[in-house]
Amino acid sequence: MLPEILKVAEEYGLSFNPRSHGKKETLCKCCFCAEDSKAGKGHKFYLSLNTHDQLFKCWFCGVSGGVLDFEAKISGLPYSEIRKKYFGIRKKPIHPAESLNAHQLRSIGWAEYKRENRAAFKENREMVFSDWQNYEYEELAKHFAMFIVVAHIENQEERQNNLLHYVMQSCHDTQIQLMFNRVLAEYVKDEADRAGWAIQGAEIGRAAWKVSLSTYDFEMDKVVYNVIFLYHMLKTDEMQKSLKGTRKKEAIVNDKMSFAN
Ligand SMILES: [Zn+2]
Repeated sequence: MLPEILKVAEEYGLSFNPRSHGKKETLCKCCFCAEDSKAGKGHKFYLSLNTHDQLFKCWFCGVSGGVLDFEAKISGLPYSEIRKKYFGIRKKPIHPAESLNAHQLRSIGWAEYKRENRAAFKENREMVFSDWQNYEYEELAKHFAMFIVVAHIENQEERQNNLLHYVMQSCHDTQIQLMFNRVLAEYVKDEADRAGWAIQGAEIGRAAWKVSLSTYDFEMDKVVYNVIFLYHMLKTDEMQKSLKGTRKKEAIVNDKMSFAN
């Protein structure tokens, strides 16, 4: 809240015209030009405070402004300091694209662009953030799929641990914050309550697991390859589906399953 200009003037010990003190127009000696403090001007009060609108103006030197400006001028502190005193640090809302760090921007191919032309980057922030969201969705879906494969492995504890370690490391490398935790959090949910990427990831994961099971090949690079391959298959299928608007998602997944077998 704005401070009262009268209180500020009192705090800094200004000399008031007693008859006007506290009225809408309160007059005092101007501490900026001090013209009314000169000999023979004892009855003059050039500085006018508007105690309703919290403004000030000197009728002699013309200095004028609002109460924050007033306090800044009297105290000699920067305006921003005074504003902070009454309003705290005002945080500008930051565009989510601006909070992506250099590593994250590199993952989606915008790091160089930002470094070379900040202004253009600012103009394209919507696109940058949309790229990031797509990237995040894809990586979450793929890693969820990998996790599903790993979780399905039975009677091979050592291999399972190694693969789990790989998935965790890979999650970390994506630069998506707390990604492995997010994967785990979705995994323990009922399927109906899962996020879109987890539902898609589970479908891919089950298909990829079947592929690996059919060859009994659970090498991680093979699993990763299968997941990525199936992910793009599904994506292509979905694009075709949305173009044709006929095939159901279940049908696609069933196709995957039979393809896997
Ligand atoms: Zn003045």
